[in-house]
Amino acid sequence: MRKSASLFFALFLFFAAAGQTSNPRPKMVVGIVVDQMRWDYLYRYYDRDATNGGFKRLLNQGFSCENTMIPYAPSLTACGHSSIYTGSVPAINGITGNDWYDSHLDKSVYCTQDDDVKTVGSTTTAGQMSPRNLLTTTICDELRLATNFKSKVVGVALKDRGSILPAGHSGSAYWYDSKTGDWITSTYYMNDLPQWVKDFNAKKLVDKYYTEGWSTLYPLNTYVQSTADAKPYESKPFGAGTNFPYDLKKFVGTSYGYLPVTPHGNTFTLEMAKAAVTAEQLGKDSTTDFLAISLSSPDYIGHSFGPNSVEAEDGFLRLDKSLGEFLDFLNSTVGTGQYLLFLSADHGAAHIPAFLQENYIPAGSADAEGLYTNLNNLLKQKFGVDELIIEISNYQVYLNHKAITAAKLNEKEIRKLIIDSASLQPGIARVFELDALSATTLNATIKNKIANGYYPARSGDIQLILQPQWIEGFKNAGTTHGTWNPYDAHIPLLWYGWNVKQGKLNRETYMTDIAPTVAAMLHIQMPSGSIGHVIEEVGK
Ligand code: ZN
Ligand code: ZN
Repeated sequence: MRKSASLFFALFLFFAAAGQTSNPRPKMVVGIVVDQMRWDYLYRYYDRDATNGGFKRLLNQGFSCENTMIPYAPSLTACGHSSIYTGSVPAINGITGNDWYDSHLDKSVYCTQDDDVKTVGSTTTAGQMSPRNLLTTTICDELRLATNFKSKVVGVALKDRGSILPAGHSGSAYWYDSKTGDWITSTYYMNDLPQWVKDFNAKKLVDKYYTEGWSTLYPLNTYVQSTADAKPYESKPFGAGTNFPYDLKKFVGTSYGYLPVTPHGNTFTLEMAKAAVTAEQLGKDSTTDFLAISLSSPDYIGHSFGPNSVEAEDGFLRLDKSLGEFLDFLNSTVGTGQYLLFLSADHGAAHIPAFLQENYIPAGSADAEGLYTNLNNLLKQKFGVDELIIEISNYQVYLNHKAITAAKLNEKEIRKLIIDSASLQPGIARVFELDALSATTLNATIKNKIANGYYPARSGDIQLILQPQWIEGFKNAGTTHGTWNPYDAHIPLLWYGWNVKQGKLNRETYMTDIAPTVAAMLHIQMPSGSIGHVIEEVGK
């Protein structure tokens, strides 16, 4: 009796001790956002992906949420990065576009623009950026708060917004200066670049990539898209008449803006991320660190050549290889199973309208700039005042409230004229007043997405909804994203590593679920504006 009591006590101590010593958090969280990655790319390129590549490994050894949707419109880069990391939507975190017109400040604002800070790492203005326009915390801020700011947070992306918005208010962020070919930051974060960033810049990797050029990874005729290559509706970012193999030597030492439009941009970003892990000793001690990476190149390539191009295909096959190497690096430095990784996208993309038309699918390009001019002319004729519309952006018409008030005009009449006229434009399916959204007869899914994207001081007055397959702009070549439709809003969501189950989930999940799921797995508070739900199926 006595013996079994002491055995019980010993077991109790054992389990209590096990409960105490088991680490409730991974050594590091790695967030990877692939800019403009449609969900279907996971399967479109599956058969060509390398065995030791990234995508197959994440799909087969990790957990895939197959039906992850963006729950708001417009599906743009700044909104996507903010939503993933805040678990929130533009209506709450305030990031209503890459740019918007701020009616309180009475000026156009770029999402991460901050005129009170200076560039660190170059003499250009590319570093006058900070996360100040983001109204909520990100999951990175919450991790820092949870560890009394002991956790290290590093954001890395070619695009400033892809790095700054994820890292949040209290992390550090680095991005690319396309004038100098260097990684930079701003005085919001620090007054001088760390030595490791200076050393990394000194390698002048972009010149090396330019010297290599861009040829296809496999013979050109083996590509799914090879029969539809070099179409007139692809834009030619490297010059008229250029095609594979792209000779980039002419840009060495002169034009650093071309790098992002090549797969080298991904390699460059992942090399910078590796340098950050090594120099900042990420994932090395008992405090969880966060590495927030965004891979911007697929977006530049996608806009130029469209989803169904050899360039996009090669871009993803090369990204798959680079990701595989990056996972190997993390496994050897942080340890297999010691880090929690998620991979998602800020948005997808539409096919190039001319490509769809060629294949008998209705599509087109709506001309917002022409609409802006026409509507302003029409309004001037009727009301006698110039520029009653300030801008049309983010699929919204921004009224000039100051001018309307000053001239004592009837805003109702102005709105009616805009709605009646814009409704007749090709490719525009619906036009309605944003502040009357709840009274508008509109499909519930779209209505919800528009409401989630509406933050009054930073949104327009009248909403334009395009017909399916219609894009805004890119009239002669290339394509874009930004609508509520599945090709823009259905994104991959893969989980891998620490405490992640192996499997697939088919129920609908949302971009906003990512941050609360990370929070739950780490046992930290979810971000301050989070409206997402924990995807319970992911964790062990
Ligand atoms: Zn993007
Ligand atoms: Zn884009």
